[in-house]
Amino acid sequence: MIQINASRLQAHFEAMSLIGKMGETGTCRPAHSDIEKKAFELAASWMQEAGMKTKIDHFGNLIGRLEGKNTSLPLLMMGSHLDSQPYGGRFDGVAGVLCAIEVVMTMKENQIIPDRTIEIISFADEEGWRFNKGLFGSRGILGKLEEGELARADKEGITREQALKDFGCDVTKFKESEYAVGSIYCFLELHIEQGPVLDIAKKSIGIVSGISGPLWLTVTLKGQAGHTGSVPMPLRKDALLGAAEIIVAVNEIATQVKENPTVGTVATINVFPSSRNIIAEEVQFTIDLRDIDLERRHRYEKQLMEKISQICQKNGLTFSIREDTNSEPRYCADWIKSIIKTNCENLHIEAPELMSGPFHDALALSYACDYGMIFVRCKDGISHNPLEFASYEDLAIGTQVMYGTVLDILKK
Ligand SMILES: [Zn+2]
Repeated sequence: MIQINASRLQAHFEAMSLIGKMGETGTCRPAHSDIEKKAFELAASWMQEAGMKTKIDHFGNLIGRLEGKNTSLPLLMMGSHLDSQPYGGRFDGVAGVLCAIEVVMTMKENQIIPDRTIEIISFADEEGWRFNKGLFGSRGILGKLEEGELARADKEGITREQALKDFGCDVTKFKESEYAVGSIYCFLELHIEQGPVLDIAKKSIGIVSGISGPLWLTVTLKGQAGHTGSVPMPLRKDALLGAAEIIVAVNEIATQVKENPTVGTVATINVFPSSRNIIAEEVQFTIDLRDIDLERRHRYEKQLMEKISQICQKNGLTFSIREDTNSEPRYCADWIKSIIKTNCENLHIEAPELMSGPFHDALALSYACDYGMIFVRCKDGISHNPLEFASYEDLAIGTQVMYGTVLDILKK
């Protein structure tokens, strides 16, 4: 039986999709932006309707809190993010925040006051494109920010520090926004799958088994500029040619065993000086390598390093590699998976178990507490694209399962 209010949930999605709307179905809501602030205000109004107290912390996270009867108990946390890719859809991240709000609204309507405090967080800068590093808010609350993160600048030259100040945050008070070890009982996140597995299997929702670990690198190649009309081919040090060979190598390494879930991608590139008649002197590009099997990912990383060094030597280039992110795969808690499964069975829904290739805020939280994730089918597996689509029926089913899961966890 569906207890959550599916039409209210749909109305919330529709209202949220107007903020940062791009074209017919697209969204652009950059992290720490005025547009995200508007999204926070709207979500906060719903959190308040659900009986929650709301605030924006010093990391730029929106937090809704429903105080439990026993505030000494570690809290149950749910959430996801409201920032989007620059050319994103309406469901990535939004689903986890709006479904969590619907869960708490339904609890309120059923006069359920939990023993354990519940918090819903819309985490700041999950996506990571603006400052080239994601999961900012979810790492922040756990004291896991790295050296130099505040100095990272976006394309306009605005640093993270400045963007946070403009957002109303005080970067000198991060400590006040951190969560003490042991203060979070568990974390739940509903998210669209962002891949085609559930769509192909014709299942509304899936139970996540774990999140594969991404390795993010930024590679800089240096050659020598020269006139494209006069420098003879054998004498060139063409950084773009080297980059092209490395891009092909990333693809070859990731696909060497066809059945494996390994994925490797180069998706950004900057060329200097970027003139049609000057040989490229410097090229910078990013590499994204992911696998559920960490040992295999390490092995592939080693192959990649050897390949980069060979290619640079061949083309007369020097190179440097910056590691932006290096996460190991993190597995969901068995006890939470089994509660989710029971709730699916109660609804007569068959929900397969699947891995998550993309990372999510739950990845950061996995270092602080047990976590569970529900995936909702997304059409043709398309995400990070205005064409991204999840049906409101599937989202309602996922939210209902989340509701049952929260009630079961609260009994513990
Ligand atoms: Zn997301």
